[in-house]
Amino acid sequence: MPTADTPATLPTDLAADELVLQATSVSKTFAAGRTGFGRTRVSAVDNVSLNVRRGESLGIVGESGCGKTTLARMLVGLERPDSGRIEVAGRDIASLRGSGRRLLSRDVQMVFQDPYSSLNPRLTVYDIVTEPLRVHGVGGSSAARRVRAAELLSLVNLSPDMMTRFPHQFSGGQRQRIGIARAIALEPRVLVCDEPVSALDVSVQAQVVNLLRSLQRRLGIALVFIAHDLAVVRHISDRTAVMYLGQVVETASTAALFGDPSHPYTQALLSASPEVDRSRRRSLGQRIMLGGDPPSPTDPPSGCRFHTRCLFATSICAEQVPPVVELSSGHVALCHHTDQAREQRGRSPELAAAETTETAPRVG
Ligand code: SF4
Repeated sequence: MPTADTPATLPTDLAADELVLQATSVSKTFAAGRTGFGRTRVSAVDNVSLNVRRGESLGIVGESGCGKTTLARMLVGLERPDSGRIEVAGRDIASLRGSGRRLLSRDVQMVFQDPYSSLNPRLTVYDIVTEPLRVHGVGGSSAARRVRAAELLSLVNLSPDMMTRFPHQFSGGQRQRIGIARAIALEPRVLVCDEPVSALDVSVQAQVVNLLRSLQRRLGIALVFIAHDLAVVRHISDRTAVMYLGQVVETASTAALFGDPSHPYTQALLSASPEVDRSRRRSLGQRIMLGGDPPSPTDPPSGCRFHTRCLFATSICAEQVPPVVELSSGHVALCHHTDQAREQRGRSPELAAAETTETAPRVG
């Protein structure tokens, strides 16, 4: 039976050896200056749990500032969680030091958002894509590394002839391909992609997304794909997790999440997406306009963090942290009223809101 303390994770029926990445109850806050009441802290990630299986792709979606990037940085070891545990291939990354830490970076690599600042402008493409091999002392002689560099460039659909050029000689899409070639150089188990196409022209976004999908299938790499673009996440992800104000509020297979969104925030997010197709929009009802501004992460709302903007909120939502509700195998949502939200999905949100107000007073 789920409880308020249960982390928002899949009720895992996965064999432990299939999990390549596991985050359990991970939280992170940052100092945000002083006020008259003392130091304030931003709650960037709060009690998040996620599993990633070998070779699968997990999409993480949410508005800007919801904690996606902080979570990504913790998953690759660039930030240390305040509490909770992150395991890569069964090893707790907090316990790794020295060579163990270096080995971690062979298993988990990151593709960064900005293809301009993530490549050293003074290095040639050859230097950039072979840098991980040199750091880890693998790849053999310089001739063997040159062969490997050519292979990597071919894998990302760039000509090996380009390896003597510098980053400024490439377009944004090509630079992101170079970043991907560097990230797969050590054949990692997991690739964490933090908004890898959001800085690119729309015309090349699809090419880079398709490249990542094909590399995932070809090389058996697990992908954690972070984005705010629902259409991209839907295209690339086997499973999708939705974040709101530092928490994962719903996780499901991508088909289940887009076909049967059950958390009020997911419903609002999908309803507001211009990419959602017409038939899907019909099943979601009219567009849901969220009321109010997103709350400050320095002072997140009590109980359910979404209660100040939720059409279905009742008094319990402000008082108690919602439980993790299992809706079907692998589909979970963090909500007191998933039945009501699912039942009223497809009706006018104004009607739903009115009925909700009649039966139980809205708070916040
Ligand atoms: Fe949160 Fe309550 Fe809305 Fe569920 S119904 S999302 S618990 S405010």
